[in-house]
Amino acid sequence: MPPSEFELIERYFTGRGAVRADVRLSVGDDAAILAPRPGAELVLALDTIVSGVHFPADMNGRLVGHRALAVNLSDIAAMGAEPAWALLGLTLPAADESWLGDFASGLDDLARRFGVALVGGDTTRGPLTASLALAGWVPAGQALRRAGARPGDDLWVSGTVGDAGGGLAILQGRLAAGGAAREELLRRFLLPEPRVGLGQALRGIATACIDVSDGLAGDLGKLCSAGSVGAQLDAAQLPRSEALLATAGEEAALRFALSAGDDYELLWSAPRSARRLIESLDADLPVSCIGAITAAPGLQLRGAEFERDVAHGFDHFAG
Ligand code: ADP
Ligand code: MG
Repeated sequence: MPPSEFELIERYFTGRGAVRADVRLSVGDDAAILAPRPGAELVLALDTIVSGVHFPADMNGRLVGHRALAVNLSDIAAMGAEPAWALLGLTLPAADESWLGDFASGLDDLARRFGVALVGGDTTRGPLTASLALAGWVPAGQALRRAGARPGDDLWVSGTVGDAGGGLAILQGRLAAGGAAREELLRRFLLPEPRVGLGQALRGIATACIDVSDGLAGDLGKLCSAGSVGAQLDAAQLPRSEALLATAGEEAALRFALSAGDDYELLWSAPRSARRLIESLDADLPVSCIGAITAAPGLQLRGAEFERDVAHGFDHFAG
């Protein structure tokens, strides 16, 4: 007999993630009960990933579990918040227990790493979809927002950009790669690493922040619109990995870096006076100053052979 919904929840979604003192009641009742934190504001995000849309339909359950949480951790990171609790809405075509075990352990590993407790959710039948709501804390008034960038601010990005797009292109047979570079690009697409520590470190420093989920140029456009400013991007400063440059070449690497999604790096603005502070924030995660905020609206790309106004020519950069 296939397991009941109750048995599935008991087996795969009870006691997942971190053990937290502020969880009064978790999975198993009609709702969870959580203790608020004095002096803090609650930050909430929800992202849904759909099979065949946000991840390949044949993707391993472990990677889907990781991704469902990682994309939300990235949003919480972009707000400068500390993640705490998750609710999972899981829709499954069938109760495939081996897949569910993989999914739960992928989610569990990442949740423990970032101190997140899975406190509830809903399990339904239908096309494979994972919708996860994540709550976190930020000291009152200190959350980072998309709005707030000021003309003259530096523009920064963490890590390297374009790698996940390269990884997806490899999976889809649009880009040929081998050896360590292939592994590295695939890992960047399949196992996104949310920049949670960096987001919190940027509180009080960044004037605006967004996570790069839809491509740097597009997400920068959102940050600029929110602040009614523009930006000048220096193509030569865009951090691209050796793996991407070796695999795709200089020009394609630039296109991936500007317009491919799924990197889950942070993109933020900060006053020039904060340069040295920002460079010393995280020894393990390189950060790059890639341009500046301008009073004039629109995005301008400088230094590329095919220099254009990205705001008008954005589609030209699509891979
Ligand atoms: P109800 O019908 O009262 O909403 P459910 O049977 O849907 O109860 O859920 C029972 C318990 O299991 C609740 O605590 C709910 O939050 C939890 N739960 C259900 N599905 C999931 C899931 N996918 N992940 C985590 N918790 C879940
Ligand atoms: Mg329910």
